Amino acid sequence: MTDERVHIRPEVAVLPAYKQGRQAAPDAFKLSSNENPFPPLPGVVEAVQAQTAFNRYPDATALAVRAVLANRAGLTVDEVHVAPGSVAILHELAKATSGPGDEVVYAWRSFEAYPGVVTVAGATSVQVPNRRDGGHDLDAMADAVTERTRMVIVCTPNNPTGPVVTAAEFDAFMARVPSTVLVVLDEAYAEFITEPTAVRGTPLLERYPNLVVLRTFSKAYGLAGLRVGYAFGPAYVLDAVRACAIPLSVTAQGQAAALASLEREDELLERVAELAASRDRIVAALRGQGWDVPDAEGNFVWLPTGDLTAHAAERFEAAGIIVRAFGKEGIRVSIGEHEAVETLLETAGSLVGDLQ
Ligand code: PMP
Repeated sequence: MTDERVHIRPEVAVLPAYKQGRQAAPDAFKLSSNENPFPPLPGVVEAVQAQTAFNRYPDATALAVRAVLANRAGLTVDEVHVAPGSVAILHELAKATSGPGDEVVYAWRSFEAYPGVVTVAGATSVQVPNRRDGGHDLDAMADAVTERTRMVIVCTPNNPTGPVVTAAEFDAFMARVPSTVLVVLDEAYAEFITEPTAVRGTPLLERYPNLVVLRTFSKAYGLAGLRVGYAFGPAYVLDAVRACAIPLSVTAQGQAAALASLEREDELLERVAELAASRDRIVAALRGQGWDVPDAEGNFVWLPTGDLTAHAAERFEAAGIIVRAFGKEGIRVSIGEHEAVETLLETAGSLVGDLQ
């Protein structure tokens, strides 16, 4: 019999689907997806519940959200794009800039969605190993840029390892990248950064005409389930991105929640500060136990568990904490509920001896 299956692009046929962090049993802590452990604010829930015209399409342009974001960033609405999660914008950016024969450079390990984003666009990934401290090796990333490079993704703080790119490192990097190459600064965790030398993308947009800054309501604002991400960048780049977007995909509920969250930002940022303080205490305690933990500037910490990664993940799970394991490299633990911290540290402490 002839093969009657439809044609799937060969590079897609071997591409695994995005793998979500494990769901937790009801009595376990789910620290595997860098989610915000705080429940939504009542005012945000009310704003979402007020959106009941399900028979109508949402505003395809998310204009109200863009207007508030633009105003705060000192940009025009055309320099702001809103999409169902910043991961959607990564896809849109790749499709807009990179196709067959083109290359996209990014650090590895970094956000797990990057390889798929590049492959789906038909382009080729160029992965540049992180430095030993888990940070981006921006010199090596600049070296990896060729005449085929169309886009470079810089993730700061880096998911899953944790360190930021400094402003000085970023400037030195940008000086080496041709202005025809799009540089995407993925700042999904920007609100959690406390390191003063960290690069902040938004104020640099004026200086670098080839820069797009990616942000999200999923992490600091706790709206992961409603899927709202946004980008700042040159209007013509974002116009191309909008042309690549799936139309009408940001729901009215997501838009309402984003607006209500921006109105209540002070309260939400207090929670962020609490999570960042908890993160710093956890890092200090882990280092005190002997762990070689990289600087952590997001809402997660990285444990370099090496060959024992699977074993360590099982031990955490047995203790009631679901973590994210990365091959034979390490474990990423999200900063979650206070109640999880003691168990987290106890389990990490009992594991550290196994590694020596
Ligand atoms: N970028 C990074 C670095 C992330 O870690 C994530 C979420 N894990 C995203 C982008 C995507 O977030 P969202 O689509 O929820 O906005």
